[in-house]
Amino acid sequence: MNIEHLADWPSFQLVEHDLIEGAPPLGAVDRVYHLASPASPPGYQRHPLETMRVNSEGSRHLLDLATAHGASYLYASTSEAYGDPLEHPQRESYRGNVSTTGPRSMYDEAKRYGEALAMAYLRAHGTLARIVRIFNTYGPRSDPHDGRLVPNFIVQALRNEPMTVYGDGQQTRSLCYVSDLVEGLYRAMECPGATGEVTNLGNPDEHTVLEFATIIRELAGSSAPIIYTEPAVGDDPQRRRPDIDKARALLGWEPEVALRDGLARTIAAFRAELGPGDLACAS
Ligand code: UDP
Repeated sequence: MNIEHLADWPSFQLVEHDLIEGAPPLGAVDRVYHLASPASPPGYQRHPLETMRVNSEGSRHLLDLATAHGASYLYASTSEAYGDPLEHPQRESYRGNVSTTGPRSMYDEAKRYGEALAMAYLRAHGTLARIVRIFNTYGPRSDPHDGRLVPNFIVQALRNEPMTVYGDGQQTRSLCYVSDLVEGLYRAMECPGATGEVTNLGNPDEHTVLEFATIIRELAGSSAPIIYTEPAVGDDPQRRRPDIDKARALLGWEPEVALRDGLARTIAAFRAELGPGDLACAS
């Protein structure tokens, strides 16, 4: 499990609970981070109903919990709230270009509802809610098999298997290293001025998918071929880069880990986690 290293911390407690059924049995709380949702396209497309429910009913349960205890609430929304954006880079004021029925709608619309619900609680009950829109994040202890760009390319490169670029690979993303994102989440939670605000959290260093494949291949010391496959199923956003002026001004935050550094650390962690057996089996 990816939280094993926390088990010995005296202040750490793991409660396994289905948020869709109700708030977890926690007693008094003073901070509520709602991070409970699949975030990988194959993950949320495999679980469309659970994705919608955890961001709607699950949000309601956590907002009730936060409201009852006067706790601060942080909702992990997403760059997918902008859909396939017609504005570039994406500022928080952009309202997005989202399909209500397309193959990503169970995630995009659920997250947009989760944002609206947080604001409704703030207006109706004075809940100390804040929203962050998280752009693509990567790093050690992420699931090597969750189907996203970074895990796929690293595992494929380490196994010397074909690296699967969907479509022509000219679509862009901006990848943020996990420790930077965590620092941004923490600051958004602790900043009183962030209450009632929506803030982008991401790294504006934008590259094409093909460039990511090439960089990962090089850093992994791999000779894997890069192949072009069918484009991803529908509505794959063509360009994505956060405007983080607001995060800089409001939270004093910006990412510090450079792409190549973060990828090198992630490759090392995946190499250690997967082990020689795992890596040899498919080559
Ligand atoms: N992608 C790819 N090959 C893969 C996995 C992803 O070309 O094996 C592309 C995907 O089509 C998208 C980008 O990489 O354009 C990022 O995909 P990811 O699933 O990581 O997240 P998204 O940003 O689409 O939510």
